[in-house]
Amino acid sequence: MTKNYELLIIGAGPAGLAAGIYAARYGMKAAILERGICGGQIKDTPFIENYLGLGKLGGAELSEKMKKHAQQFIEIKEFYEVTEIEEISHKGNDYLYLVKTTQGDFNTKGLLFATGVGYKKLGVKGEEEYIGRGVSYCATCDGFFFKEKKVAVVGGGSTALTEAIYLSSIGCETHVIHRRGQHRAEKALVDMAKESGVKFIFNTVVEEILGDGNFVKGLRIFNKETNEKTLFEIDGVFIAIGDKPNNLLSLSLGVEHDEKGYIKTDKEMRTSKKRVYAAGDITGGVRQVQTAAAEGVVATTTAYKEIKNPYWA
Ligand code: NAP
Repeated sequence: MTKNYELLIIGAGPAGLAAGIYAARYGMKAAILERGICGGQIKDTPFIENYLGLGKLGGAELSEKMKKHAQQFIEIKEFYEVTEIEEISHKGNDYLYLVKTTQGDFNTKGLLFATGVGYKKLGVKGEEEYIGRGVSYCATCDGFFFKEKKVAVVGGGSTALTEAIYLSSIGCETHVIHRRGQHRAEKALVDMAKESGVKFIFNTVVEEILGDGNFVKGLRIFNKETNEKTLFEIDGVFIAIGDKPNNLLSLSLGVEHDEKGYIKTDKEMRTSKKRVYAAGDITGGVRQVQTAAAEGVVATTTAYKEIKNPYWA
């Protein structure tokens, strides 16, 4: 028999977990569906030091704390991948959606997309071939294998610098390859990277990742100012060039997205579809852990008003 919910939250990163706590506190029949394990991108982040009141701690540690906290309130279904969503009925103010997952189907009156973002690929020769053999998108996951070795981080944003600082802290000789001529990341991270001994190569793009058939050995890089092509020997390359929204489900449901593929919402986190809300990185914007959690709270509060307690709406 299909189980019925008032709100199903898709994704158990900071936005989904915060949303779940509030849905439970509002007395909604709700659950979080997560295709993997809880935490979203923060579980792969080396450190976070700007979440109010928590100081500096590891991303995995923060995501574990968040999961434990949320679990006290809300049912979290890990390894439930949503495969399809259909609007099955609409009567007056009531909407009903069918949510199909790898572990069964559910009916719900409301949906909250907290599906986050995934890593963007560089798209150069050698990248696919050497994934897991010197090409990585996650320093906390794979950095260990490059201790005391020479690595490159491609990208110039806050993620690239966070990865570089971590790699340097575990003894890697770390070079950040940035296509621009100046820093783009937060100043605090730039200062920390410089203090950690991270070296910067500006105005430079990676054209190819080279290896010996088994493992990465170097990069072919191109300096846009001098027009020089160089072979840069390294043992590993970490790619941190931004993210792309996990929007396949919301696109197929017909929710409106912006030109970059992020879900469009109003200030109360409503999407273009009735009783469908969105929160966190999937909505674009500043993409911080604190704002993701806050958006989750706002989205659930709106859902509560419109689904559980419609006379408020
Ligand atoms: P981002 O800010 O979009 O930066 C991506 C970087 O990759 C940019 O420097 C960009 O170059 C470069 N890039 C993009 N495509 C490239 C390509 N094909 N080849 C070479 N370089 C390429 O992404 P992010 O660093 O992942 O950060 C995402 C969001 O999370 C941001 O809002 C950020 O503030 C936030 N974040 C915050 C923290 C923190 O608060 N401590 C930590 C991590 C992330 P250009 O500069 O030339 O565009």
